[in-house]
Amino acid sequence: DHGLSEADPEVRTIIDKEKQRQLRSLELIASENFTSRAVMEAVGSCLTNKYYGGNEYIDELETLCQERALAAFHLDGKKWGVNVQPLSGSPANFEGLDLPHGGHLSHGFMTPKRRVSGTSIYFESMPYRLDESTGIVDYDMLEKTATLFRPKLIIAGASAYPRDFDYPRMRKIADAVGAFLMMDMAHISGLVAASVVADPFEYCDVVTTTTHKSLRGPRGGMIFFKRETVHGVDLESAINNAVFPGLQGGPHNHTIGGLAVCLNHAQSPEFRAYQNEVVSNCRALASRLIELGYKLVSGGSDNHLVLVDLRPLGLDGARVEKVLDIASITLNKNSVPGDKSALVPGGIRIGSPAMTTRGFKEKEFIVTADFIHEGVQISLEAKRSVPGSKLQDFMKFVGSPDFPLMHRVSD
Ligand code: PLP
Repeated sequence: DHGLSEADPEVRTIIDKEKQRQLRSLELIASENFTSRAVMEAVGSCLTNKYYGGNEYIDELETLCQERALAAFHLDGKKWGVNVQPLSGSPANFEGLDLPHGGHLSHGFMTPKRRVSGTSIYFESMPYRLDESTGIVDYDMLEKTATLFRPKLIIAGASAYPRDFDYPRMRKIADAVGAFLMMDMAHISGLVAASVVADPFEYCDVVTTTTHKSLRGPRGGMIFFKRETVHGVDLESAINNAVFPGLQGGPHNHTIGGLAVCLNHAQSPEFRAYQNEVVSNCRALASRLIELGYKLVSGGSDNHLVLVDLRPLGLDGARVEKVLDIASITLNKNSVPGDKSALVPGGIRIGSPAMTTRGFKEKEFIVTADFIHEGVQISLEAKRSVPGSKLQDFMKFVGSPDFPLMHRVSD
């Protein structure tokens, strides 16, 4: 049996190129992180071979992973249970189900023309929105909509929301209409484990998460549930059955192995220190951007991400994302409240978890804000030098050798 270099040099080369790209670039995608060597070792182990029968060690591993999951989130195993088999965040949300400015596709997303996610194809959903003047969830409107729509489930959690959710208020609304309350803490699960943001477990019936974002584990998902019958539903058996055999077959045991390693680390003082830095670094980045004159949605951040509204500059997220990408600064375009079209989103989303793992402190995040500012200035110049305002022409120009930044980067 050969190692990868010998067995398949083509794939080896692509992995090596990706590794170099990860090392070289400033990774600011809010949902990404660099997991540890120990996690990767478990994920790349013989655990991937196992299916049925001969499961004594696989069962031992899953039980250990569940115990660590409950401990990492400070939960009493008599009151809470957890399923660690969801293959990722979207299936976890689908299985947790029996939607917002900044929400995620898997929260029932649909456009006026089309139901996009399985969660909107198989369930009726109704999004709630931000108050556009403050950038904060409009809880009054959520209450009114919930009273009319009478949902069975209200979902908290988002992919691009820089503030904490008001769980007590959402619990009150859910109780008034007889709905379950679920939190998708995918983005902030590391921050929740380290208690640097509000604790959704105090108020929710079900909490779902991915495991590869701020939590810094392998790619996967988890569903936490109250060991109770709520609105006539035994959550434990409903959720376990929805995972298997409802939507999935055999668990990815190698992922569960990596997750167990991650959840052990998530209980350590270094992990808490890391999550505190994720937040303080993000605040430093936000303050510098504000100093430089940028408008941030909600005016700042309580967590690991900021959302910059570029529309006051006459720019959009797609153009700035492209220019920064050429300079090896990786972040993503994102809609901001008030956007007319989702095709040319008016903002960019910037996250601190990955570069904090790489050792960045506040000082480096201030410099990062300055780099982003430079990228924005260059995007503005480039936009001016392209006749007409077509996005396609802009993309062609900045991708060509005539684009000044190309020279600067290659020099
Ligand atoms: N939930 C939230 C809030 C997310 O941001 C994401 C992914 O970005 C998901 C769920 C889906 O996770 P996955 O990509 O693992 O399906």
